[in-house]
Amino acid sequence: MTFRPPRLLKPWSTIAAGLVDLIYPPVCLICESPLPEPDQDESFCVECRLAFSADSPEPCRRCAATLGPHTDTSRGCLHCHDEHFHFDRACRLGRYEGLLRQTILSLKYPGHEAVAENLGRFLARQRRTSLEELACDVVVPVPLHWLRRWSRGYNQAEAIACGLASQLRLPCRSWLLWRTKATRFQYQQSRTHRREQMRGAFVARLPRRFRGSRVMLVDDVMTTGSTASAAAWALKAAGAREVFVAVLARADV
Ligand SMILES: [Zn+2]
Ligand SMILES: [Zn+2]
Repeated sequence: MTFRPPRLLKPWSTIAAGLVDLIYPPVCLICESPLPEPDQDESFCVECRLAFSADSPEPCRRCAATLGPHTDTSRGCLHCHDEHFHFDRACRLGRYEGLLRQTILSLKYPGHEAVAENLGRFLARQRRTSLEELACDVVVPVPLHWLRRWSRGYNQAEAIACGLASQLRLPCRSWLLWRTKATRFQYQQSRTHRREQMRGAFVARLPRRFRGSRVMLVDDVMTTGSTASAAAWALKAAGAREVFVAVLARADV
């Protein structure tokens, strides 16, 4: 048996992190109020966490839309029963409103990677049971067209996906799916128009180990579901068995 000396001292990295916290006390990434109990897992204060997680009762499991209480969703909800989505299920952190909406809008500007990544972690912690029961093999973000990614400096969906994947201990693979069409939606555009615009917008290539796999597709917000559906179609055409969507918010349309 190998003798291991008792660890009496904290590792240097922990001491250094403690010193940094002393000089720059940790603050909430959203409202910058001090975090009273520094915790490596939490980058948001209690008030912001409550605002992010104040969701309505159980949303639709197929399309993540907001539902009234006691709604029968066995064949989809009012929003999705006549939709042919290529993804199998969808899960969200909350509605696209209030602080969650403000924060998602801020992610469209450069320099917000840390907020996006921490929101991905938060989504995974809040919806851990539903996400883990999907038994996914890999996490894939909805890609931006390369021109938009270049002008923004990063893809917020990729940062969210990385945070979510690390929390669920799954691989995050942004290069399995890419966008071949640059599309710009107006909020008021109809479902039919969006669906038409998204047709053939994505191409996926899955290595052999991910063929027949369950993919968790991640985006910041889902509006009509056309983007997620087109991305899921490409992933399935490349060999994915099932595609589940995880988003920070679902807009009510
Ligand atoms: Zn806060
Ligand atoms: Zn639905």
